[in-house]
Amino acid sequence: MEVCPWLRKVPKQNKYTCDIYYDRPDDCKYYPSTVDEMVRDECEMLEEKDRANPKQARRALDQLMQDSRTPFE
Ligand code: SF4
Repeated sequence: MEVCPWLRKVPKQNKYTCDIYYDRPDDCKYYPSTVDEMVRDECEMLEEKDRANPKQARRALDQLMQDSRTPFE
């Protein structure tokens, strides 16, 4: 698996950042659009509690993505 060259690990933390976050490609801005998509892609951000409660996971995803989604959604 290839790792994006813009992905950067935060020193001494279990976190990652994007070096080009404000200029990232549209595919990055709009991903993930659904919890099903995260399951399909085996997204590492999906936690066990999300799988156990998909409705809550969808609400949390909607809140996280509210500034990233296009207005027609
Ligand atoms: S948001 Fe996109 S460009 Fe940024 S690190 Fe992730 S995959 Fe790479």
